[in-house]
Amino acid sequence: MATKTKQEQNTDNPEVIIGLEIHVQLTALKTKLFCGCSTDYRGKPPNTYLCPICLGLPGTLPVTNAKAIEFAILVGLAFKCEIPPLSYFYRKNYYYPDMPKNFQISQYDKAGGVPIGIGGEVQFEIEGETRTIALTRIQLEEDPGRLTYLGSILTSPYTLIDYNRAGITLLEIVTEPELRSPKEARLFLQKLRSIIEHLGVANCGFEGAMRCDANVSLKGGKRVEIKNIGSFKAVQQALEREIIRQRRVRADGIEVIMETRHWDENTGRTVSLRTKEEEHDYRYFPEPDLVPIEISREWIQNLQSKMPELPDQRRQRFMKDYNIPQYDSGVLTSSKALADFFEACISLYNNPKNISNWIMSDLMRHLNELNIEIDESTVTPEEFITMLKHIDDGTISRRSAKKVLMDMIKEGKHPDRIIEEDGHHRLGDSDAIEQIINQIFEEFPKAVKDAIIDDKAINFLIGQVMKKTQGTADYSLTNEIIRSRILKLRNKHKSTF
Ligand code: ZN
Ligand code: MN
Repeated sequence: MATKTKQEQNTDNPEVIIGLEIHVQLTALKTKLFCGCSTDYRGKPPNTYLCPICLGLPGTLPVTNAKAIEFAILVGLAFKCEIPPLSYFYRKNYYYPDMPKNFQISQYDKAGGVPIGIGGEVQFEIEGETRTIALTRIQLEEDPGRLTYLGSILTSPYTLIDYNRAGITLLEIVTEPELRSPKEARLFLQKLRSIIEHLGVANCGFEGAMRCDANVSLKGGKRVEIKNIGSFKAVQQALEREIIRQRRVRADGIEVIMETRHWDENTGRTVSLRTKEEEHDYRYFPEPDLVPIEISREWIQNLQSKMPELPDQRRQRFMKDYNIPQYDSGVLTSSKALADFFEACISLYNNPKNISNWIMSDLMRHLNELNIEIDESTVTPEEFITMLKHIDDGTISRRSAKKVLMDMIKEGKHPDRIIEEDGHHRLGDSDAIEQIINQIFEEFPKAVKDAIIDDKAINFLIGQVMKKTQGTADYSLTNEIIRSRILKLRNKHKSTF
């Protein structure tokens, strides 16, 4: 069982109540939600992916992207949401520079509003137990533009606005407040992402493609919303810090106020942004420019029949087809990129157990250290398999393979290049060192005899190995091997006398 960090122990408590609101860009869509503008805005000059519709110019009319609805239904089915036959777009009114229209076209689940998916659930595993978290709803809405600040949001003298993102399709996913710890929140998000990516509707690894707001309170206290947290790790950290803050406030006899706070990754603290607006502040009303979304049962059945393999099924298949233990299969399918990597490796080298072991141990450890996903690293299945095959054919030992893999991940080099280039890597290999020691023992038989009687001569032999390898032999390994050989020779001497 995994040991818990001190912060986890402090914040993992039944009195903690966490609910999440996740915004996922459906990045597999080619065009925005209500116009034909391209979604491929990343890395492009600001305010160049625009048209009169997404700029909200007077007299323009939005038209709903049918593919966006299809993707949302797919997600809804995967999460076991109820998909109502009619759902509606609403206007969420607010005055803020990130929305050129001063309202966001969104959906609403009250006052006659019906979102695209109602209820639903996501299951994930924590410490060997299955947890089921209920969803409140999923809904479609348009992404606002992107605001950029100079330095901190609180002290920046100006704000830059890029509307390229305005109108991109977002799926908003809201959970019931059922999460009980920051770690649960992280694992929940990981599973959610894996499901969405398996559906092929989004790549959540794109910058800003998956954003999370977290609501957290202590039992009986007011709820605080932490806005726009960028990564799984940051969600866990931000929640941990915020829970500690609320505990302190409470311990001082002060009531926690309902507010929106901003997570500052640099300081590891949450800071107050504004007191929380109430829902009625948004003056929701039905969007008069768009017709209701009609979803026929046939459409749903058709999509259901095209449902791709989801992480839980893939996990079962890994257990059955590749004989991988349940826990390992769960880790391997915790991200689509990792599961894809694993299967790409198997197609090149049919040894699933060995591949899985290396992924689960060394590969995962290095990726975690760098806080990256497999598809953010440069290591390809082909390179990974090249390394494993070099162990099989004796080019490198398991021990030096670990070092080679580390360099592959950290330096982005091909394993063959690492083995060729860095002679010392090979000489960290016990087989290679052993060969050199054989040569030295043959060249200096007297020193070997001396060493059997006197430890001091051992140092001479080590020195000769270092000299021959120009200092590239692993010293402690050389020392270890020579000493154990001499010890064997000593024992042999004893037994013959
Ligand atoms: Zn547009
Ligand atoms: Mn939203």
